[in-house]
Amino acid sequence: MAERLNGHTLLVSLIATPIRHSLSPTMWNESFAKNKMDYAYLAFEVGNEQLEDAVKGIRALDIQGSNVSMPNKQKIIPLLDELSPAAKLAGAVNTVVNQNGHLVGHVTDGTGCMRALREEGVDIKDKVVTLTGAGGAGTAIAIQAALDGAKEIRIFNIDDQHYATAEANAQKINEHTDTVATVTPLENQTAFKQSLSESDVFIEATGVGMHPLENQSLITDPSFIREDLVVFDVVYSPAETELLKFVREHGVKKAYNGLGMMLYQGAEAFKLITGEEMPIAHVKEVLGLD
Ligand code: NAD
Repeated sequence: MAERLNGHTLLVSLIATPIRHSLSPTMWNESFAKNKMDYAYLAFEVGNEQLEDAVKGIRALDIQGSNVSMPNKQKIIPLLDELSPAAKLAGAVNTVVNQNGHLVGHVTDGTGCMRALREEGVDIKDKVVTLTGAGGAGTAIAIQAALDGAKEIRIFNIDDQHYATAEANAQKINEHTDTVATVTPLENQTAFKQSLSESDVFIEATGVGMHPLENQSLITDPSFIREDLVVFDVVYSPAETELLKFVREHGVKKAYNGLGMMLYQGAEAFKLITGEEMPIAHVKEVLGLD
């Protein structure tokens, strides 16, 4: 690393808190080294209180771009000059591109998920999708699936504070895209089962299946699934959630975890900020994800 850094080295940042556990600095710096790019990526512990100064710093120091994570994904929006269509609809930003002082906000979680599906031969266009969850991940996925031309997105959410977000997401999708979006309480299991039986793709974006809910799955009845249903769980740790284990045991061939989404949301941000492709195979190897 020391050999690479010089007076011309360009900086990309990550602003979030807590942030020291993040895999992003390793992903990006390994990619810069592999691609022989004169860039460095650093994580800065920034919460809402320091956010405005941090954004001024991006401009003042000509930082090329930044990843943004919690708790800043929404709060950064009024500090930027422009938003991508997906960021505008999702109301969240995880990537800022600095175009000569003009800061453009993007959200790549949804594009990351869509690319992960595409890499498995699943194109969301014209598909009927059942989606559980309307938090950060569920929102970005719903919006991007609609922008990418899904035929229908049927959102199911438990009756908690995220239900209203699910309704707002559906409204935005119906107003701004050709996709038909609906929201139904997940407690209505008859409707959930019916929706799955009519869907091409099921995307699970609640985090059920991850610690502390690692022993749980939103589907425990084999009559809810078909062997040709595509199942995508945003969780990647554990690599095989209870849901993925269950559906595979019942014959589902196309069942994927969220590792691809995590890698491709980074790759999409990398492309937006640097214009280059992230060397995914190398990143997987370095992170021990092969
Ligand atoms: P969030 O807290 O913003 O939203 C959680 C959603 O799940 C809400 O809609 C909530 O109503 C629903 N929910 C919570 N508990 C539930 C339960 N017991 N049963 C049914 N629904 C329930 O969380 P988030 O930021 O959207 O993250 C969700 C998951 O996605 C986490 O596991 C996170 O690690 C994962 N994630 C993965 C990636 C990736 O790149 N693979 C990216 C972002 C998030």
